[in-house]
Amino acid sequence: MSTLLSSVAGNGSAAAWQLSQRGREVVLLERFTPGHKEGASHGASRNLNLSYSEPNYLSLLQRAVPLWSELEQETGTSVFDEVGVVTHGAHPSLTGVRDALDAHGFAAEILSAEAASERWGGMRFETDVLWTPQAGRLNADVSVPRCRRLLLSAGPTFVTASGSKASASRRMTGWW
Ligand SMILES: Cc1cc2nc3c(=O)[nH]c(=O)nc-3n(C[C@H](O)[C@H](O)[C@H](O)COP(=O)(O)OP(=O)(O)OC[C@H]3O[C@@H](n4cnc5c(N)ncnc54)[C@H](O)[C@@H]3O)c2cc1C
Repeated sequence: MSTLLSSVAGNGSAAAWQLSQRGREVVLLERFTPGHKEGASHGASRNLNLSYSEPNYLSLLQRAVPLWSELEQETGTSVFDEVGVVTHGAHPSLTGVRDALDAHGFAAEILSAEAASERWGGMRFETDVLWTPQAGRLNADVSVPRCRRLLLSAGPTFVTASGSKASASRRMTGWW
């Protein structure tokens, strides 16, 4: 039985890679062509932010973050820079996020505006700051095609173009 996924963008490509690793045949439906810039999964600098208090999001992040390392190892390419993220400004409860991160095994620290200004001299802070050192910058331009490349090497898979810009089904090998 095949799994049908919509899109060859970020979520579609990553889910297809993981499903193919589990031996599932995947069919991807895409409106445009792989590598298009009509969605949101492109650019060298995307923010991998961990600053959530919802347990279901944090559980997903516990599973997702190591997969970026796995993608790097399997492709021999760097896709994620663990440079950390600072969250500041109006926020209902930075301490609540810090506690939730702590409970899920992610490093998180609250700093005063003064302490944060000392640490990151080029930025201006007016509120407390949440520092998450394991967050960082993800290169979507590299990671999304790498997911598809691993998918290709996993076996025969088809992409069906739907919508107005393309109409034929094509083998993935013809597209990337
Ligand atoms: C400007 C901008 C910046 C962002 N920055 C970040 C960030 O830094 N960090 C972050 O985590 N998130 C960011 N996001 C959110 C971002 O949308 C998601 O993280 C992620 O890129 C979404 O991936 P996706 O595959 O779900 O969606 P998309 O990349 O939007 O892909 C959707 C795909 O579905 C296809 N599609 C749509 N309709 C059909 C159809 N009818 N038939 C077939 N195919 C169809 C599209 O062609 C496209 O390929 C940003 C969003 C925007 C708009």
